[in-house]
Amino acid sequence: MPETGVDGRTSPTPLRVPEPTVERLSTYLQFLYSAAASGLTTISSAHVESATAVSAAQFRKDLSYFGEFGKPGVGYVISELQGRISRILQLHETQPVILIGLGNLGAALLSYPGLTEQRFEVVAAFDIDPKKCGRTVQGVPVYALSDLLTECARLNPRIAILAVPGLAAQQTFDLAYQTGIRAILNFAPAVLKVPAGVTVRNVSFTQELAVLSYHIKTDQLDS
Ligand code: NAD
Repeated sequence: MPETGVDGRTSPTPLRVPEPTVERLSTYLQFLYSAAASGLTTISSAHVESATAVSAAQFRKDLSYFGEFGKPGVGYVISELQGRISRILQLHETQPVILIGLGNLGAALLSYPGLTEQRFEVVAAFDIDPKKCGRTVQGVPVYALSDLLTECARLNPRIAILAVPGLAAQQTFDLAYQTGIRAILNFAPAVLKVPAGVTVRNVSFTQELAVLSYHIKTDQLDS
């Protein structure tokens, strides 16, 4: 029997999609939003190349993991491509997210309108500081960490954002795991030990800056 692919289409031989392809899909989606906002209704792979710096060939290869896209002589209809990429990334429906750690970073994340614009809804925040619990921040209720299991059973979040100190990261991940969450966006400077089946994306401004710093030096040596 054919298996159902990640975009809901059937395929007799599902391919394993490389992680960089998934990362680029999100880039394509951003580009499609801005192309639509500028009044375009169709795009070509050459458009994608000039706007995203991903080659036209790579763009076509990335899409090929998910079936057939585009029409010769027409290109890609933006609304159709947006819809299909959104479904592949499961962004066609709102994704409930929880935030653990409502400090400086957590509060800044809650005030970022891009989360809801991209259909991520922070349904609850959790903290161990009793002064922060029992109130609402940016429309998001804040609970004690001890309420995590109960509230997650009710809210059924799919993703957890960890914005706790590094020393608390593993403990908070372990708790989030018990709620059934298998996708983590980790801002804490800690390498999480996670069971198979869990996806962790680590975000570090300072690591990104270190990479930029390296390139500045290399550029100076080259010039
Ligand atoms: P903060 O001290 O302002 O906030 C941390 C919050 O976590 C506090 O509200 C604290 O009460 C709460 N907390 C502590 N232990 C907890 C636990 N076990 N369960 C739930 N909540 C707990 O810190 P911040 O500036 O908001 O930074 C948060 C984390 O993000 C830190 O680990 C920091 O190093 C990291 N950070 C990462 C980046 C990045 O680019 N990745 C940028 C800034 C901060």
